[in-house]
Amino acid sequence: MFLSRSVENRDLMKILISGLGVAGGVLAYWLHEFGFETVLIEKSYNLRTAGTVIEMYWDALGIFKKMGLGSVLSEKGQGPTGAIAFNRSGRKIGGFSAQSMSEASSGDYLRIFRNDLVNAIYAAVKGGTNIVFDNSITAIKQDSTGVEVSFDGMATQKFDLVIGCDGAHSKVRSLVFGEERNFERRLGMLAAVFVEKNYDHSNPEFDLAYIETGKFLQCYAAHGDQTAFLMSMVETGNSQNILNNRDEQRAALGNAFGGEGWECPKILKLFEKKEDVYFDRIIQIKMDRWAQGRVALCGDSAHCASLWAGEGAILASISAYVLANELRNCDGDYEKAFSNHYQLVHPLTTQRQKMGAFSAGLMLPRNMLAKVGLRLLLKMMANSLTIDRIWFQPNFTMPEYEHQNAPLLKRARP
Ligand SMILES: Cc1cc2nc3c(=O)[nH]c(=O)nc-3n(C[C@H](O)[C@H](O)[C@H](O)COP(=O)(O)OP(=O)(O)OC[C@H]3O[C@@H](n4cnc5c(N)ncnc54)[C@H](O)[C@@H]3O)c2cc1C
Repeated sequence: MFLSRSVENRDLMKILISGLGVAGGVLAYWLHEFGFETVLIEKSYNLRTAGTVIEMYWDALGIFKKMGLGSVLSEKGQGPTGAIAFNRSGRKIGGFSAQSMSEASSGDYLRIFRNDLVNAIYAAVKGGTNIVFDNSITAIKQDSTGVEVSFDGMATQKFDLVIGCDGAHSKVRSLVFGEERNFERRLGMLAAVFVEKNYDHSNPEFDLAYIETGKFLQCYAAHGDQTAFLMSMVETGNSQNILNNRDEQRAALGNAFGGEGWECPKILKLFEKKEDVYFDRIIQIKMDRWAQGRVALCGDSAHCASLWAGEGAILASISAYVLANELRNCDGDYEKAFSNHYQLVHPLTTQRQKMGAFSAGLMLPRNMLAKVGLRLLLKMMANSLTIDRIWFQPNFTMPEYEHQNAPLLKRARP
């Protein structure tokens, strides 16, 4: 039985993590390193590897290097790239160079395809954590002795703690904290992300963007012959079903990009044929606590800053690393660990949510005036100091966690 507790580990907390994305993977890795017994449950039947590029800076790079992923980052990662934006008639309307980006980030910047990152995290985690695919939590009941968790098609099991790392539409959050609408802030946009081979317009030196009123499209050249596409537009309908219905998604993107210029018709055709697409509403998750009793949230489930912030994986990895360390140091007092996690990470995620909402409004201009403002900004972004002010200024200092002489881990206090 995968949930049984060994005699040697009787004193250790047994922790269930829901969701094998960036937050779930990083958390499982470090909790296992610190000696906790971990079980990870993932709704999808396989790793979810869709997605465009993940940008890495600040402490996230160091966390992944400490996890032994340094060689994957060097092999699969890319340095800074520039960007060029086009309008309907195919004219360049602005951009910046790879060199400006490089200067702004003091070289401490890397980007990697989500597929490569998630696969590398999985490889690092799978030896130490029981991973159950194709299953999901259906009910959570907690008392002073632990958390009783029911699953979709498996026997009910008891854990000391449960951590929801199951993304912006978290099931753990809805079961324990309340409905999504209580915490979501919709930014009024939809986005589709997919990867395609042999797109002939790809440019390894520059991301190519198409910006028109209410729509944004970007192409990122990956290694090999792959290009990742992000298509985003203002949400005009009010469909409850669009996140789960491919026909509605095709219709929404067709309406938005069908009559557009530049490379849009060609890229729309690629999207229409593609099955492996990540499609989502652009939302942020704002909460004034991330824990209730023995259940906590981490990553997008707690503090999604939106795809437009472009920092979801950075925030998720920092949040997961801090939570794992606080649990290791809490001597069984999980409430203190959860409280420290919130106090340390919440200011950072709040700041980056503001940045995310700002970027979304800016890069997807809704009227002529906003479009003119964006063009001016794109001109200014040729200057590395402007990029620096916009992207690389977090208000966060990682606590100095000492990894030697870890204290004996204790069971959660009843
Ligand atoms: C397929 C995919 C593609 C993405 N592409 C991009 C992108 O191109 N650009 C970008 O900026 N961000 C993208 N994101 C979001 C980005 O990965 C996150 O913002 C960031 O990595 C934070 O990670 P997370 O682990 O908190 O959430 P996620 O990375 O969203 O991971 C959550 C995990 O939980 C799983 N899950 C969901 N519900 C349940 C459940 N009920 N039970 C168990 N497991 C569950 C999901 O299948 C997923 O594996 C993508 C997310 C996904 C899932």
